[in-house]
Amino acid sequence: MAVERREQQEGDLLLQTAVEDYAGSSGQLPVIDEESLDPEFIKLVEVFSGHQHVNACIQCGTCSGSCAFSYKMQQTPRKLMAMIRAGMRDDVLASDTFWYCTSCYYCSARCPRGINLTEVMYALRHLAAGRRKNTEAAAYYDCFNSVLRSYGRLYESGLLVRLAMKTDPMSLVAYGPLGVKMFLKGKLNLLPERVRALDEIRQLYAIAAEMEEGI
Ligand code: SF4
Ligand code: SF4
Repeated sequence: MAVERREQQEGDLLLQTAVEDYAGSSGQLPVIDEESLDPEFIKLVEVFSGHQHVNACIQCGTCSGSCAFSYKMQQTPRKLMAMIRAGMRDDVLASDTFWYCTSCYYCSARCPRGINLTEVMYALRHLAAGRRKNTEAAAYYDCFNSVLRSYGRLYESGLLVRLAMKTDPMSLVAYGPLGVKMFLKGKLNLLPERVRALDEIRQLYAIAAEMEEGI
């Protein structure tokens, strides 16, 4: 009897926490317009995340409890998974959750359903980048990809220059002394190195671009 009562209390607490999580500070659960939902969105996320099975999520919250940045995120990782499953494409892509993700893989290692949530975060960043051209995070993402398309690997000096030209050219002056210091310590290459399989990397980018057009 005592066990049943405790389970009931735990169940009530979980339900209350979930309602508070969704309701936010207003205390009101949001009304979702069914027309705005995109049932195909989950498939897109699954393809871009290397076929993570998002539907396998049981909403246990282990990922949110493991994430050091949950407190900063607009939506916790668990909540974001629920939103993806619900087809809330626009709300998911407008979220800042995946921009805060540091790819520590802790949530992925602990997920009882074996979902690699870090890959889901990568996928969302990729899908959202095209929609948030005005943010610094999206500008960084564009420059990072443009460097990878050019050389097939990271080229820090080139990335810094491209990012500055896109956001704030004067930042080059501020970063100048640091760049010189890093160069003198052998930590910054002035000239880029190219990988041998550059064509294959460019082909991957072309495939991803075609998929994005369908969003
Ligand atoms: S840990 Fe896994 S199963 Fe649990 S809420 Fe997060 S993604 Fe879903
Ligand atoms: S991989 Fe990202 S979402 Fe997962 S625990 Fe680390 S920071 Fe949080």
